[in-house]
Amino acid sequence: MPFELDTILRKEPYPLLIDGKEVASREGRTFETLNPATGRVIASVYEADEGDVNAAVAAARRAYEGPWSKFTPKERSKALLRLATKLAEHSELMAQLEVLDVGKPIAQSRASIVGTPATLEYYASVLLTLAGETINVSDNSLIDFTLRESLGVCGLILPWNYPVSLAILKLAPALAAGNTVVIKPSEVTPLSSVEMGRAILEAGFPAGVVNIVNGPGATTGMALVRHPDVAKISFTGGTVTGQAISREAATTVKRLTLELGGKSPLVVFEDGDIAKAVGVAYADITRNTGQVCAACTRLVLHEKVADEFLEALTAKLVKVKVGDPQDEGTEMGPIVNQRQMQRISDYLAIGAEEGARPQSYLDFSGRKELEGGYFVPPILFHDAESGMRVAREEIFGPVQTVLRFKTEEDAVRIANDSPYGLAAVAMTRDAARAMRMARSVQAGSVCINHGAKAAVDAPFGGYKQSGIGKERGIAAMLDDTQIKNVRFSVA
Ligand code: NAD
Repeated sequence: MPFELDTILRKEPYPLLIDGKEVASREGRTFETLNPATGRVIASVYEADEGDVNAAVAAARRAYEGPWSKFTPKERSKALLRLATKLAEHSELMAQLEVLDVGKPIAQSRASIVGTPATLEYYASVLLTLAGETINVSDNSLIDFTLRESLGVCGLILPWNYPVSLAILKLAPALAAGNTVVIKPSEVTPLSSVEMGRAILEAGFPAGVVNIVNGPGATTGMALVRHPDVAKISFTGGTVTGQAISREAATTVKRLTLELGGKSPLVVFEDGDIAKAVGVAYADITRNTGQVCAACTRLVLHEKVADEFLEALTAKLVKVKVGDPQDEGTEMGPIVNQRQMQRISDYLAIGAEEGARPQSYLDFSGRKELEGGYFVPPILFHDAESGMRVAREEIFGPVQTVLRFKTEEDAVRIANDSPYGLAAVAMTRDAARAMRMARSVQAGSVCINHGAKAAVDAPFGGYKQSGIGKERGIAAMLDDTQIKNVRFSVA
């Protein structure tokens, strides 16, 4: 049943969260957010300027040096568990807001948010294992050991495709390691993060441990990146933005975690499970309307099975249920905004000019209910070659490029022929070949006979231009710490 907007949207502008309070921006400036299924404004949100960002960083600094620094690991662990409970209580509202703000179908929205308490529970547990080491140095007059220490204030800058679940994936390890945070959600989808802030308030952290500032990247985001009291920026978003952030962060020598774009290959060998491979391709082109960083957007198919694979995939694509994301049966909602829709249409022209053949699998003419929304059908680029832009660059929508190969060597060359290296999937029943693929594909995650879906307890993060550092797993928490060496003379 579609829900009533009136019952879930706040009437007042959505506030910032600074120093343990929901507040308006100092200058009172606001911006609007749209529902991509209709193109209509749904809410207004307070926009943080540099002064607001400074206030948030100052609050985070006070909390870091003050009450939060006194928390024992066990107390931090309990605080994360309280937040897990509160987030679970707010999860339905956050899921509904992401339907409105992101255009994500309700079933997928719930599925992405329902896992967030488990992320907090995981870090509540692994933080208890944080430890340094003793080192047998070549000097008997010394006892040498290391301390693993927190960094300070961390700025967490987020994209629009999974607002709350990606925020929690950054927040949980950062707090677990003893840092405090200032979160900058995407200005395209700010609403669910404000409700996440309410759960954070209810969880009872000391004021300033978690702050949330909404606003555009170039102003609000940059103010956070420039701030000398921010020790680390953890950023998820596009590679070009990541480059700009790296340049600016260098001036204050900030630590960085960058989770950037991808162009992941799905390599299907002649002995692979074709039905399973088709399932992976279908999920990746439809889930969140293809707007997923690790989605397999290059279908790298052995020439002997390519036609069978494409026939089976086509049979599914012509039946995808595209429509109102509030509808429980909808599989594909709209693209997040006009800008992203334009980007997809630009790539359709680029691909056609390069000699690839774009084919769309649904016709929306006559579907009045989709008018006004940013709906795009699933599209495959046939007859492509790996040097083409549509085979190398991230499009970020329901678009996949089809590439064929003859030998394993060919498959590896094509899989690695991209500036990105976020994830890769190989489908084969030959164990030795699977292991060779795991070794030779240059990607942060290589999945064998399994879609490129990440889990909280294993590290995820790109090779090459897909990023720096790791998210998820113990690795993410360690990336939020620094090592101090202590040399103690016993002579
Ligand atoms: P984006 O780079 O446009 O924006 C991401 C965030 O950065 C937003 O909060 C934005 O306001 C902020 N920002 C923009 N310019 C900034 C600047 N100069 N200084 C500071 N902050 C700035 O990305 P997007 O369009 O929101 O998200 C889509 C991209 O995110 C895709 O490229 C996708 O692959 C990537 N992504 C990667 C992962 C991953 O884990 N690797 C996960 C999800 C999305």
